[in-house]
Amino acid sequence: MSRFLRKAYRSLEVYVPGEQPRDKKYIKLNTNESPFPPSPEVLEAVANEAGDLQLYSDPECTALRKTAAELYGLKPENIFCGNGSDEVLNFAFGAFCDETKGMAFPSISYGFYPVYGDLYGLDCAAIPLKDDFSVDPADYFGLDKNIVIANPNAPTGMLLTVPQIRSILDANRDNLVIIDEAYVDFGGKSCLPLIAEYDNLLVVQTFSKSRSLAGARLGFGFAQPEIIADLNRVKYSTNPYNINRCTLAAGEAALRSQAYYDRNCLTIIENRDYTTQALREMGFEVLPSKANFIFARHPQICGETLYRTLKDMGILVRHFSREEIAAFVRITIGSAEQMRALVNAIQTILAGGGN
Ligand SMILES: *Cc1c(COP(=O)(O)O)cnc(C)c1O
Repeated sequence: MSRFLRKAYRSLEVYVPGEQPRDKKYIKLNTNESPFPPSPEVLEAVANEAGDLQLYSDPECTALRKTAAELYGLKPENIFCGNGSDEVLNFAFGAFCDETKGMAFPSISYGFYPVYGDLYGLDCAAIPLKDDFSVDPADYFGLDKNIVIANPNAPTGMLLTVPQIRSILDANRDNLVIIDEAYVDFGGKSCLPLIAEYDNLLVVQTFSKSRSLAGARLGFGFAQPEIIADLNRVKYSTNPYNINRCTLAAGEAALRSQAYYDRNCLTIIENRDYTTQALREMGFEVLPSKANFIFARHPQICGETLYRTLKDMGILVRHFSREEIAAFVRITIGSAEQMRALVNAIQTILAGGGN
């Protein structure tokens, strides 16, 4: 740390991304990427666009927003494009919170929420989950804070219903409620239809999980036009060309390849069911997941040991050292072949043959 760093940043606890190893080829089930490549149309669109990289990208993301608006039955004014949904979340924390209005979120959820809270010096409330690891909507009534909830939640994979979200919106007419739908395409129901009704709702989605574009960095914010205008105020004070040309082209082509991505999601759901059942048969508790990952613990082996042993065997999963969830590992759902390899490796470990 240099002596020049601003005081408020000196104690920041930064977000720690999952490993992106370069040392060897792992079966990579640790950061919830898709095991499938982008659609052929996406690859073609990116190749075509590369020839124009000497030119700035469209700061208004006009074509992408128009295509998305048609697909979702919205207006372009309802849509904000971010450099990953992380940027949408970052701008939202910056735009809608301050020293008088902090942010509330589940205490076990996406690790970036408290980091943004810290970055902006906010008074945040981390709301405990229920004993079964679910989110209780009633815990979010009367807090006088903005709210961000991942739905399905991460790393539990557990889903709130649309009526439950509605109850949170109704109880928070004067607070912004952000629903982070990073994993909604794997069996959840989107709150997108509610934005017409609620001026306090911001729905955030990403192209990183179901649309195989984690490396392109693209996310959406959906809300009433006033909210979108506020996000643009931050964007035009930060980085007007926040989405590069190739990513804009990739995003538009991805929206036009809906059938390809729908098929991939169905495959992930099948592979999730297979893995869940196989792990349960081996004595694991597996939380009911509607995401492209599962969160599982075994009475005989701690999460950290399982993570390390699997890594030695060439399979990467994610372990979180926080006490309440240290017994678990989070396993991204990959291809059928990858999941068979995982199940076989765990069988070997439980039989005492790990390493
Ligand atoms: C992966 C993830 C994001 C971030 O996605 P990007 O679009 O890649 O920035 C946001 N929220 C949750 C809950 C996630 O799991």
